[in-house]
Amino acid sequence: MATNNQVRFAAVGVAALALAFTVIPAQASSQRTLPTISRAADGPVDEFGGARRIGGDQSKTIQAAIQKSGAKNVILVIGDGMGDSEITVARNYLEGAGGAFKGIDALPLTGQMTHYSVHKENGKPDYTPDSAATGSAWATGVKTYDNAISVDRHGRPHETLLQLAKKSGKATGDITTSEIQDATPAVQVSHVLLRKCYGPEETSKSCAPNALENGGLGSISEQLLNTRPDVTFGGGSKTFAEKAKAGDWKGQTLEAQAKARGYQYITDKADLATIGSADQRRPVLGLFSSGNMPVRYAETLATSGGGDKAAVQCQANPKASEVPTLASMTKKSIDLLSKNADGRKNGFFLQVESASIDKKDHAADACGQIGETAQLDEAVQEALKFAKKDKNTLVIVTADHAHSSQIVDEVTPGLSIKLRTNEGSDMVVSYGTAAAGESQQHTGSQVRVAGYGPGAANVVGLIDQTDLFFIIRDGMRAYRR
Ligand code: MG
Ligand code: ZN
Repeated sequence: MATNNQVRFAAVGVAALALAFTVIPAQASSQRTLPTISRAADGPVDEFGGARRIGGDQSKTIQAAIQKSGAKNVILVIGDGMGDSEITVARNYLEGAGGAFKGIDALPLTGQMTHYSVHKENGKPDYTPDSAATGSAWATGVKTYDNAISVDRHGRPHETLLQLAKKSGKATGDITTSEIQDATPAVQVSHVLLRKCYGPEETSKSCAPNALENGGLGSISEQLLNTRPDVTFGGGSKTFAEKAKAGDWKGQTLEAQAKARGYQYITDKADLATIGSADQRRPVLGLFSSGNMPVRYAETLATSGGGDKAAVQCQANPKASEVPTLASMTKKSIDLLSKNADGRKNGFFLQVESASIDKKDHAADACGQIGETAQLDEAVQEALKFAKKDKNTLVIVTADHAHSSQIVDEVTPGLSIKLRTNEGSDMVVSYGTAAAGESQQHTGSQVRVAGYGPGAANVVGLIDQTDLFFIIRDGMRAYRR
């Protein structure tokens, strides 16, 4: 029988409506595979019942998806700037309005998450946070000010999930499509006053109390080397050309330091396949571009009046093939972490980020953000594939904050663009939070959070971003070999 995943509403007749709704049934043993859900409409969406995403009572499926906290492994997948509107834009374009993502939409337990930050001066809420404050919130459990990297509003460092995971003997990984020093990956491995303190140069200028020469913990890149995850993948090699200003590696580049400290330091996509293991003796640091990684789709900018122009479709960005996909980095990380001795014995913690949903949303680049949402979905599919087989892995998928793009009826006073979706209908996307050529702003609406595996029920309903820290920390503590 065809499953929902295989049936495309556009391609089937009414007959396929009956009984094709799928939930993968759970076995009744403790070794059961938890269900994922398939939420694509069986269609046609314009016929009676055709747009329905569920077939009958879901109580058993949801019950079967609930398993108490205490997973051996945790995979936290973050879409930077992936609000509900970014998910819907990408789903409409790629999968169809009645379609479903095989990763993002397959997690059985879903909630909403508040993600405000706080003002440094008075601790009052800042309703439109940045990625530094939001990442710090789930990495450390404390809300802080925009630009802070895992320090509270008084500048005090708090231990991160990745650091706690290491302490409990787990293997760890931190991967992204942005510069590895960018806020989201940085929050797991470092503590600095301002997110821009990537290397020794900027740290001396902007984060003086953090600088090594002042007795601080060092720049984000230097702290990354100290925190020493088993697996680190992203962009941002250019900062590793800077030289340490104090300490054991004073005068040496950070790249030389990494190599001297046993890192397998790679910069070429082809090198990824040559890495057969990664552990504390020989961690892997893969930096596949000098800055942020190129994105999947060529730039397609919204313009003033663009929603009235001819509809366009997304085209491949040839540069994207120069770097590994997020899904391939995710798969590789899971392989390395689950095979390493610590990972086998104590499990692993892996943070995965699709970073440029946010960056392309800032640029009012509709295809750009769609392609990076697809990258996130494919990474989630890799995580779920492992989790279903492993049966002892918590997967959480969420965003750090919401963003500007909106699906609208027609041209707006701001910037807009008309896209012809893969199902052949037109969708106007608008960006109304900045003028042309300026950076579109983050927005403050709650974001989706979804989970799979032991402890996933804790994301259901309304949670705050700081709850993620406690859900994951306590889940890791509850794991008993
Ligand atoms: Mg980010
Ligand atoms: Zn942003």
